[in-house]
Amino acid sequence: MPEPAPPARNPTDPSRTGRPSALPYEEVTEPGYPASYTTGLRIEPTGDGAVLTGTCPRCHCTTVYTWTRSVVRAAPRAGRAGGAGPGVVPVPVLCVCTTEHPGRPGDEEGCGAYWNILLERERR
Ligand SMILES: [Zn+2]
Ligand SMILES: [Zn+2]
Repeated sequence: MPEPAPPARNPTDPSRTGRPSALPYEEVTEPGYPASYTTGLRIEPTGDGAVLTGTCPRCHCTTVYTWTRSVVRAAPRAGRAGGAGPGVVPVPVLCVCTTEHPGRPGDEEGCGAYWNILLERERR
């Protein structure tokens, strides 16, 4: 008697949907994370910060991170990650994907990866 096939969670493109549950939760950062993350990053300025929509460089899940800081306006440019100058704000980012990663504490999100990017501040 054939067993029913288990439902496929990620039947298609693994680079888009992430590796299913294989990656354990771990709080790590690597020097290459920011450059990888800012490639294709979408930044939507909000009233007091920005919504950063990108791909986690560690688990490759889509992660939507809301950054808020009342005094700073985020400009829609994060590509230049050279030296920080005036008007450049370091923004700490955490992976907050909704994929299950084994070992994740109940009150945490994402895979545990974190990194910093630089956002240019809007000057007026
Ligand atoms: Zn991640
Ligand atoms: Zn993930």
